[in-house]
Amino acid sequence: MTRLSDLAARLAGLEAESLRRTRRQLQSPQGVSVVIDGRACVSFCSNDYLGLAAHPALAAAAAEGALRHGTGAGASHLLTGHADAHESLERDLARFSGFPSALLFSTGYMANLGVATALLGRGDAVFGDRLNHACLNDGALLSRATFHRHPHGDLAALERQLAASDARVRMIMVDGVFSMDGDIAPLPALLELAVRHDAWLLVDDAHGFGVLGDGRGCLAHFGIDPATVLDHVIYMGTLGKAAGVFGAFVAAAPAVIDTLVQSARTYVFTTALPPMVACALQASLRLIEQEPQRREHLAALVRRWRDGVQGLRSGTPLPSSTAIQPWVVGGSGQAMALSAALAERGLLVPAIRPPTVPAGSARLRVSLSAAHTLQQVDRLCEAMHAVDARHG
Ligand SMILES: *Cc1c(COP(=O)(O)O)cnc(C)c1O
Repeated sequence: MTRLSDLAARLAGLEAESLRRTRRQLQSPQGVSVVIDGRACVSFCSNDYLGLAAHPALAAAAAEGALRHGTGAGASHLLTGHADAHESLERDLARFSGFPSALLFSTGYMANLGVATALLGRGDAVFGDRLNHACLNDGALLSRATFHRHPHGDLAALERQLAASDARVRMIMVDGVFSMDGDIAPLPALLELAVRHDAWLLVDDAHGFGVLGDGRGCLAHFGIDPATVLDHVIYMGTLGKAAGVFGAFVAAAPAVIDTLVQSARTYVFTTALPPMVACALQASLRLIEQEPQRREHLAALVRRWRDGVQGLRSGTPLPSSTAIQPWVVGGSGQAMALSAALAERGLLVPAIRPPTVPAGSARLRVSLSAAHTLQQVDRLCEAMHAVDARHG
């Protein structure tokens, strides 16, 4: 076999198992009413939880930023790529999240790799929930620390692993909101474990920042004051989801942030985020702070969906109170069929399949956004009822 036919056989294998992924073409701005592959539909697919990705105030701030700073940073932060726009955004992110200092990264993926590799090395230990996001796991692997994983939410297993470890530096990694299940990590209990076992706690709040805790994220959701946990907690928020733009930040004690500046390879060896992105993010942060009604409406949509699909047999809702509402059906083929049946009705809901989720737990993942109307959620619930008999 040639190399290319080898790949073709692998792709055909994915196709046969309903696991081959394809991309749809978005022909409108991101939002809840989109045109995809030439067809208008209502989307329940994005992470644009507050409906800010196409907000005119953010676009205007980006345009002004481009006129003032140009389009490209042109260098890494440590050379000449660090603009005043980055600096003031970092200050505002630190203030808003309640930490003394914050550092921008280009993506959440890079932020997690940077934190893990800057703070951990061979002989250290890292502990992660099995459902943690892929980029936390990649960070753990890249750090060369010994990687211990525990079943989802199993704090007793985590505690056993911590107690058995004699590594000098230990780090617990966790998703603040689990991206495929929508549940919120038990942060107070995790923090207690981190304190008792002298460990860092890296909280990846990709799906909580902007949404939970008045927008301040999952720590604020639990009433945890960052000032009291600086010796343990490293907070990572992403800026391409609820914040509607792009990028990520790490907030922590100044010594952590300065260590990242010195030695996080995904910070040092890469071009700085375009300053115009920082300008758009300033505008986004203002809306996150000043418009709580977006979060209130989102909470009402979540309740509407959960009430609306009670009693259906095509799947099971997971116990989530967040904007991520999984509908677990089991097989990849069933999830694809259900997603296709909804798509026929102009409703876009992604089927999430292994390896993104464990085998046998393929699901629809409904992502709600403050930009949805109650009527759009009703329409989705009605469609779920209509297809239920066929897929239950
Ligand atoms: C999306 C996501 C990331 C990655 O963030 P990007 O900015 O998109 O790279 C990290 N962690 C979790 C839990 C995510 O859902």
